[in-house]
Amino acid sequence: MRDSYDTIVVGAGIAGLGVAAILAAEAGEKVLVLDRYDRPGGRLMSYPDTPGRGWKIDIGLHMTELGDASSIHAINERVGVEVSWGPFSETVQFYHDGQFINIAELVPMSGDERRAFGSTLRLIAEMEDAEIAAWDDRSLAEWLAENVPSEAVRDLFTDMGMIMTTIPEAIDMAAGEVLYIGRDNLRKKSQLLTSSYPLGGMDAVTRGLVKVIEDNRGRIETGREVTEVAFKGKRVNGVKALKHARGGPYPGYYAMPEPEEIGAAKVVCALPIYQLPAIIDFAPAASAMPSWWTKRIKDIMHEVTCLVGFMLGLSEPVTDMPCFFSALRTPHAGLPFQAFPASNFDPGVAPAGKQLLHTDVVCEYPEASDPFERRRILERLWKDLLEMFPGLDDTVEWKIPYYVSGCDGLARKPGLVGDFKPKLQAPGIDNLFFAGDTYIGRGLAMNGAALSAMHCADLILGGLD
Ligand SMILES: Cc1cc2nc3c(=O)[nH]c(=O)nc-3n(C[C@H](O)[C@H](O)[C@H](O)COP(=O)(O)OP(=O)(O)OC[C@H]3O[C@@H](n4cnc5c(N)ncnc54)[C@H](O)[C@@H]3O)c2cc1C
Repeated sequence: MRDSYDTIVVGAGIAGLGVAAILAAEAGEKVLVLDRYDRPGGRLMSYPDTPGRGWKIDIGLHMTELGDASSIHAINERVGVEVSWGPFSETVQFYHDGQFINIAELVPMSGDERRAFGSTLRLIAEMEDAEIAAWDDRSLAEWLAENVPSEAVRDLFTDMGMIMTTIPEAIDMAAGEVLYIGRDNLRKKSQLLTSSYPLGGMDAVTRGLVKVIEDNRGRIETGREVTEVAFKGKRVNGVKALKHARGGPYPGYYAMPEPEEIGAAKVVCALPIYQLPAIIDFAPAASAMPSWWTKRIKDIMHEVTCLVGFMLGLSEPVTDMPCFFSALRTPHAGLPFQAFPASNFDPGVAPAGKQLLHTDVVCEYPEASDPFERRRILERLWKDLLEMFPGLDDTVEWKIPYYVSGCDGLARKPGLVGDFKPKLQAPGIDNLFFAGDTYIGRGLAMNGAALSAMHCADLILGGLD
């Protein structure tokens, strides 16, 4: 068995890098982070000079809820890394009846309704943790029916809930998660939802963590696929990992190279739950994990939202507004829509005078994972975009279609948020841990991942019970 580490972290996304940086910087642990891709960052990766000089694109549309007051900021700050932020999004512009309008115009309110809206915001800002947790297995539609008499205010909350959860219907949104995100934003920024963009693109929130790990004797090895968490009885003693990235003509490559064993006192699996069966044996007769745990992971692992969209490089801006664009359903694709002109928040991500525009629609797994349906969705989305942003066609320098399933962790549906998410420590195995956006942790997607990483590190360091 090669070397021995205090902790091996599987996955170099924000969660894995965060846990490793804290353990290395705060406890002097010797850590090894392994990732199967050729660079760290996970879903927060960005690509310098792609698709050409001067462009810097993230994987798809990314904004950070709460910016300098977020868990993403906090995890960097905790290990001494400073992240700088662009402006906060000024408004949310919704596409409605052939034009983009401000969210306030979308749901016009009388004086009484505005007062009702204010009281609802106060109610949320004052909620205790336990009151919010009591709504984790109930829907936003139910919370609104019980607490908000005004229909206009209920509509406004449903629109905001869609942006928070990427789920279109209030009956499918977990009330607890929407209330938590709303309360956090109201307490820290006096608004129901605020978001910003890190200067330098999304890898600005992960590259400092990489440096902290390396400056503290830690190692990050990319292009290393972990094939197995190695158990000895009821403890883990390391992992098995391929020495080189696996490549081949088939998704399931027919050659099975011999992995290398690497020893560790602890292992943190910082990859989403839907990737766990690739590294932990789930077979009931053989698994070191109890069958109720493997069954629950299998039951919920496809509860994810998916995105299909275009990343666009434009020769000139189609909008100069630093804001988030949305629609509950687009005219052609008929799906919830989001767009974000990243270069309006950080001009450094596009060549001078040009615009980087991210766009996508939110889909369910069955339609997004079917390649034919996906192409149809892209065709319809393109028609939507031409209608929404007049003149777009004449400015397109490059256009990259993309698709992701499991974009932001477990779908924030009733029964899948808060303490209903899988825990950060393996049941009955005291040196196996988990971190990331599909495990316990609150906040909008990347913030959920960062918070879970901080909690996981605290658990390992003995600060949490
Ligand atoms: C297109 C898109 C848009 C998004 N938009 C937003 C947004 O606007 N706001 C927001 O808050 N969040 C957004 N998110 C979600 C956010 O990016 C994620 O919540 C966050 O990055 C998850 O981090 P993580 O560390 O939990 O997981 P990941 O980043 O997925 O990290 C897991 C890592 O594990 C590695 N791995 C997997 N299997 C193995 C293996 N066998 N061996 C070794 N390594 C392995 C993977 O390569 C990966 O690097 C978006 C995500 C996507 C994809």
